[in-house]
Amino acid sequence: MYRISRHFFLAALATFAVATTTPSWAADKLNVVTTFTILGDMARNVGGEHIVLTTLVGPNGDAHVYEPTPADARVLAEADIVLVNGLGFEGWIDRLVKASGYNGPVVVASKSISALKAEEDRGHKHYAAEALAEEAKEQHHGELDPHAWQDLANGRLYVANIARALAAADPAHAIHYRHRAKAYDGRLVALDREIRSRLDTIPSDRRKVITSHDAFRYFGRAYSIDFFAPVGLSTESEPSAGEVAALVRQMRDKGIRALFVENITDPRLVQQLAREAGAVIGGTLYSDSLSGPTGPAPTYLDMFRHNASEIARAFTS
Ligand code: ZN
Repeated sequence: MYRISRHFFLAALATFAVATTTPSWAADKLNVVTTFTILGDMARNVGGEHIVLTTLVGPNGDAHVYEPTPADARVLAEADIVLVNGLGFEGWIDRLVKASGYNGPVVVASKSISALKAEEDRGHKHYAAEALAEEAKEQHHGELDPHAWQDLANGRLYVANIARALAAADPAHAIHYRHRAKAYDGRLVALDREIRSRLDTIPSDRRKVITSHDAFRYFGRAYSIDFFAPVGLSTESEPSAGEVAALVRQMRDKGIRALFVENITDPRLVQQLAREAGAVIGGTLYSDSLSGPTGPAPTYLDMFRHNASEIARAFTS
């Protein structure tokens, strides 16, 4: 009984806070907070005019190493729903939720995707597909690859999870969210088909790409391209001189010519690889964040189209 009345007291307090700090037109909208831009774009596509959206890590930001601010805690305290990627991507989110006092739903957008697991192999990170459920069953604490959004099939699951969560948090507009999610899902399916036909023409012995950090394994699994990276799953790690030398050897042995820098990481390591292996950098791939509105990847769909066309161009030039 105490708990219920306390809950209502906090809810009333939260409503009061929202009403006094946001414009009146926004008072009846669902206050959605996402951790990074890719989730933010998906939420905007599903939520449309019925949500007010705040994204914590902005365009070209690196969520792996993000340090939340007191302003982020205030944003969370006023949220109706918080959307996160999960799979260990936002190592800082639990602490932030606790510090903010937010006690609403924290929705994991990657729920029910088939996660890739990290494994050490031949001096570079190698990943084997393994179901998350199997992982939990084995009670094995292996590192999982968080970059699941880099497969449009996973993106569709993210969108379905987001639509379900928004509908549960705001039942009055459930049909609206379902309708918008279905329309957006159709665009993801169409883009996947477009990218497949574009990449299908690349000969199988050339399908090898170097990027800064290991953000494209899901992309690689979806479109049969091998990605190699000097930096591991998280941008927090740094490669040893031996690991870099091993990668240069591999580039020479396997004839890897397609090298890319990323929008969120320091380009110097890839520039060094290019120099040492006598290769040319193909351009910039968008890995863990979208660009700003005037950049080449302001939306999730734009990001995928941009990355796929940059990769296709590197193989055909
Ligand atoms: Zn990453």
